[in-house]
Amino acid sequence: MNAENGDIDELEAGKIRLIMALRRQGIRDARVLSAIERVAREVFITGAFEEQAYDDHALPIECGQTISQPYVVAFMTEKLEVGDRMKVLEIGTGSGYQAAVLAQLCRRVYTIERYRTLLDDAVKRFASLGYHNVTAMVGDGGKGWPEQAPFDRIIVTAAAPEIPLELVNQLKVGGIMVVPVDVNAGRDGQQLVKLTRTEEGIDREDLLPVRFVPLVEGVARES
Ligand code: SAH
Repeated sequence: MNAENGDIDELEAGKIRLIMALRRQGIRDARVLSAIERVAREVFITGAFEEQAYDDHALPIECGQTISQPYVVAFMTEKLEVGDRMKVLEIGTGSGYQAAVLAQLCRRVYTIERYRTLLDDAVKRFASLGYHNVTAMVGDGGKGWPEQAPFDRIIVTAAAPEIPLELVNQLKVGGIMVVPVDVNAGRDGQQLVKLTRTEEGIDREDLLPVRFVPLVEGVARES
């Protein structure tokens, strides 16, 4: 066995441990667990952190952003109740990992990122892994993607200062959005919220305290 194979075995073992840990923590949806099993998280992680690819924590990526903790990805994906005919919008492409997991479960993923550098890297990863049902663009995710609306599902992976109504308006009736929202202007952290658009308005269910990078208005000028 050469060193390279050893590394691969190590990653595979880590992946199996992660799936077991997610089950123990209450992730039950077999489709979600199998999607996570299929996506090589190490591809979405840069350099030195690669060996931590299957540890259950968030890791830094370019532009001062983070790839979310696998448990949070699994939990949000489960709560989103994604079906295989659905059109899903993600705000905050980051590394592209969450979009890649969603791509296993639905017809098409649209994802928006405010940093060009992150978006370009994510698009390369989608191509190299053969995920052809992901469409990505640089933009201000807070405005959604009106040309592609309405969506069956919307997932926001950066913390919004309040319920993003512009995004709710791009949901179909019966559609679900999962979004971290600041509590008390962020002084009391963030709450992961599940919103369901109904004929009459919006149903809200609070799910879990979380910690995400903020949803920032506008496209990043740095890169
Ligand atoms: N889903 C990502 C996690 C990304 S962290 C993953 O799986 O790796 C959140 C991302 O949201 C960051 O990359 C940040 O740049 C981006 N972001 C923040 N505000 C945004 C906005 N208004 N529009 C689009 N992207 C935004």
